[in-house]
Amino acid sequence: MKRIYLDYSATTPVKKEILEEMLPYFTEKFGNPSSIHKFGRDAKAKVNEAREKVAKLIGANVNEIYFTAGGTESDNWALKATAYDMRNRNKKNHIITSKIEHHAILHTCEVLEKDGFEVTYLDVDKYGSINLEDLKNSIKENTFMISIMFVNNEIGTIQPVKEIGKIAKENGILFHTDAVQAVGNVHIDVNDLNIDMLSMSSHKIYGPKGVGALFVRKGTRITPFIHGGAQEKQRRAGTENVPSIIGFGKAAEIALENLDMHIDKLTYLREKLKDGIMNNVSHVIYNGHPEKRHPGNVNLCFQFIEGEAMLLSLDIVGVAASSGSACTSGSLDPSHVLMALGLGHEYTNGSLRLTVGDFTTEEDIDYVLEKMPVIIDRLRQMSPLYEQIEGGNN
Ligand SMILES: *Cc1c(COP(=O)(O)O)cnc(C)c1O
Repeated sequence: MKRIYLDYSATTPVKKEILEEMLPYFTEKFGNPSSIHKFGRDAKAKVNEAREKVAKLIGANVNEIYFTAGGTESDNWALKATAYDMRNRNKKNHIITSKIEHHAILHTCEVLEKDGFEVTYLDVDKYGSINLEDLKNSIKENTFMISIMFVNNEIGTIQPVKEIGKIAKENGILFHTDAVQAVGNVHIDVNDLNIDMLSMSSHKIYGPKGVGALFVRKGTRITPFIHGGAQEKQRRAGTENVPSIIGFGKAAEIALENLDMHIDKLTYLREKLKDGIMNNVSHVIYNGHPEKRHPGNVNLCFQFIEGEAMLLSLDIVGVAASSGSACTSGSLDPSHVLMALGLGHEYTNGSLRLTVGDFTTEEDIDYVLEKMPVIIDRLRQMSPLYEQIEGGNN
């Protein structure tokens, strides 16, 4: 059966040219970058080449990029590596974040709260945007960090990052952003945006899983995350995941080269998918910001349907989608992001995230648009509530 993948925000396939770049570094070029000999030097040079490519994608300096094991580690590190240092040196213990962050941020904040830190979770409006006045009003004497995600992974909303950076700078507060969904999907310049720290992940931009990076602006103090050898300027010890770092670098290079084309293509497919569903299905709402959003993200709530039932029905006809974030599927809790938008259970229960990517075709969208109304209609026929509302009309 034809399989259509519409879950690019969960992960992406590794592009062929990226895999090819990685392969020699598993076998004949297997050196440890810390070794003095030729094998080691070759690996080290290639890791630094990858560092340059990753830096270039976000307008950073090569020395400001630290490789990690992915977006989750970068988020953990950004918060923890500053929190304890700030408390010890400056008696500052307050973090400002939002209610719609990825769990890598939210669960890290919860741990810090248990350890005596204070966290403000900003509300968002119906589009999922934070309010800048709220942000200003929540700043206190003891605030050391603002951590607000760049692009939301469930509803795709892009936050006013430049304005947040300006507010942080004016108040002498560090600004960290989880940009895992933004990197490779929007133009980013960390200097223009006044970002001090930025998390990214390779497997969301067609690179391998288990590798990512944290950008740390020059002059920003952070304590080491993993202790051991002298790798990553003694801040993140452990022998480098050389093939994956090389793959990540290649992914960053391709992402930058194709950025405008990629954005145009995804936006076109997203609009076609969104319009096709909205025009042919009733009792559905489109979540997230109408314009300021991830180019490939469609997030919908269907009334009178269980999201899980919809995912299973789509899977049967070969369509891979998500109910929101990869981390919440499998649990019956409603998405914290959709709840923060102020949606009731009648909507959040029927949520669906469809994310298009570089290998999505127009035929894929046509196929989904053909199948979706049929699936939704069938599922709704089983809903007693739907019967009550629509029964009289038929
Ligand atoms: C995927 C994702 C992460 C986690 O990144 P991993 O590399 O999978 O650990 C963090 N934040 C956001 C917004 C994400 O989409």
